[in-house]
Amino acid sequence: MRADSQRTRVYAWEWASEQLNDTPLSRTSCERIVRYACALYGVPTPSVQVCESTHGRKSYYDELRNHIKLVYKHRTPLACLHEAAHAITSRYYGNAVQDHGPEWLGIYCWLILHMGLARPKWLRLSLKNAGLKAKPTRIVAPYKLKRMRKKRA
Ligand SMILES: [Zn+2]
Repeated sequence: MRADSQRTRVYAWEWASEQLNDTPLSRTSCERIVRYACALYGVPTPSVQVCESTHGRKSYYDELRNHIKLVYKHRTPLACLHEAAHAITSRYYGNAVQDHGPEWLGIYCWLILHMGLARPKWLRLSLKNAGLKAKPTRIVAPYKLKRMRKKRA
């Protein structure tokens, strides 16, 4: 297994920022958010599966199937963007980076800000307090990554 040194801190940070008592989103709504995020970055939209029962504990993005699974408690806008950011990171960086590394977190933050789910100042401070490193959002903005991909091709 690859190293993923920020994972535990990312989960703790999200837990603290998650809105309580959010009504779980429908599959259609989750899909719409994921599709929107992936379209901004010009990557293929993953299929989205949501859990109806509260038993599931782990949401994930499966790179091979380009598939997202969201457990009940993760049927939230933030979790949709979390998994969409995995799909985007894997298209642009492949296996060269950690799952919850600064590249992924930068893309996730760019999406959070773009969707208006947090204010830039609050986001910066809360990442700092959680000891998390993210690439600056201007470096991983969609047009920057698309340009990087063009140069490589
Ligand atoms: Zn993750």
